Amino acid sequence: MNEKPIHTDGDLTYEIIIGCEIHCELLTKTKAFCSCENRYGGLPNTRVCPVCLGLPGAMPVVGREYVEFGAIAGFALGCEVSRFTKFDRKHYFYPDLVKGYQITQYDLPLCTNGQVLINLASQDETPRFKKVRIERIHLEEDVGKSLHIEGAHSYIDYNRSGVPLIEIVSKPDMSSPEEAALFMQTIRETLKYIGATDGNLEEGSMRCDANINLKVIENGKEWRTPISEIKNMNSFKAIRDACTYEVGRQLAEFRTDRQNFSQGFKVTMGWDDAKGETVVQRTKNSFIDYRFVVEPDIKPFTLSDSFIETARSKVGELPQPKRDRFRKEYGLSDFDVNTLTTERSLADWFEQAAKASRDPKKVANWVLAEVLAVLNERNISLDELKITPAHIASLVDTVVSGAISSKQAKDVFAEMLETGDMPEAIVKKHGMEQVSDTSLIEAIVAEVFAANPAALDDYRKGKTNVVGWLTGQVMKASKGKANPGTATALVQKRLAELK
Ligand SMILES: [Zn+2]
Repeated sequence: MNEKPIHTDGDLTYEIIIGCEIHCELLTKTKAFCSCENRYGGLPNTRVCPVCLGLPGAMPVVGREYVEFGAIAGFALGCEVSRFTKFDRKHYFYPDLVKGYQITQYDLPLCTNGQVLINLASQDETPRFKKVRIERIHLEEDVGKSLHIEGAHSYIDYNRSGVPLIEIVSKPDMSSPEEAALFMQTIRETLKYIGATDGNLEEGSMRCDANINLKVIENGKEWRTPISEIKNMNSFKAIRDACTYEVGRQLAEFRTDRQNFSQGFKVTMGWDDAKGETVVQRTKNSFIDYRFVVEPDIKPFTLSDSFIETARSKVGELPQPKRDRFRKEYGLSDFDVNTLTTERSLADWFEQAAKASRDPKKVANWVLAEVLAVLNERNISLDELKITPAHIASLVDTVVSGAISSKQAKDVFAEMLETGDMPEAIVKKHGMEQVSDTSLIEAIVAEVFAANPAALDDYRKGKTNVVGWLTGQVMKASKGKANPGTATALVQKRLAELK
């Protein structure tokens, strides 16, 4: 675990060092310090009040749900949650920061010392984990949003001002662009599982900053290239591409200037997706002093034991333990387990069906093949389906009991999707019950044999593939109702008698 990959470039060897800071908007009902509604989009500046606009004299009040979500996230990411905590002001000037400071947590963050396991294996392989440590998670308010309308003007929408965020700061434990992307993916999946965020990357619910530099060894001497902080990436691809680009850029820069990293200074960059390159936003010489002070309008506070315990109890089962359990309990493959657990709603849906059925493995097959295909084709979510886990459980059991064939089950599935009727009702309505009665099938086999003497001659001459063909004829004659297993067995029995 955690061995550092060493790369070479000509006469240099180097390691990649990446740490991430992830901003995540929380799904609270109200904003962080006021009772304005916390929701994405809508007409600009329609969800604002004196507090989130930072008007003089407005007093912030800490939302209980906000702190609770922060604590739940902390527990989910393996952190210790502090009982005593406080808020601070971080000063800087930017048009979308109307107060001139942002309320955040400086030296006493809510959560510290966490860790997550990122899975380096692919979808169908046995998991291969790497531990990434989390230094801290602090609470912070979001800022407004600048809108640059084509033409000469810029506008600011303060609807986002005061939206509750957590900032998750990792240790520099990632050693490749891929690992950085996996870290963001793992955090997103976990926070979505606990219901703390919608994880909507396009809408900016989660943004990632990556701090990246290289440990270069040249002729036995060790260097650290200056750190670049790549800001505000909101896709896994952007993280991979931007970090990969920075590795190349820092190597090239190292070859020309042999500059060593110095504490406290870093280049702030943005990622230009269209050009495929990082763009300098602030140079390494512009060290910023945010002049942190304790937020005077919010008293430091102590969380009660019951508050902390309630938060801990709300974490629920996380994706990885769920995967291990599904693998064991239902005997599913890594690929199946990984697919079924990507979203908690899907995992719960599957599990409800699995528990109600006699054959969880078959339930998994139906969910993976048929249900997911319908969701993809129609671009809808599980709760928009007319069928429920009970439908799938009962459909699977109807097949397992031999009442209908797998082929008929597909027709039943199609019909229940449209009508929402239960499988038993559909089977009954169409008189689809499979015939397993041996004497009835024997009679059909006899008819088929009598009508196809040529096939029997072929069989006598050694053509064994007529078994399948004859069984097909029996199925056809029974209008698909004969139990295929019984039909095959009876055809084989009768052929054996021919010899
Ligand atoms: Zn407000």
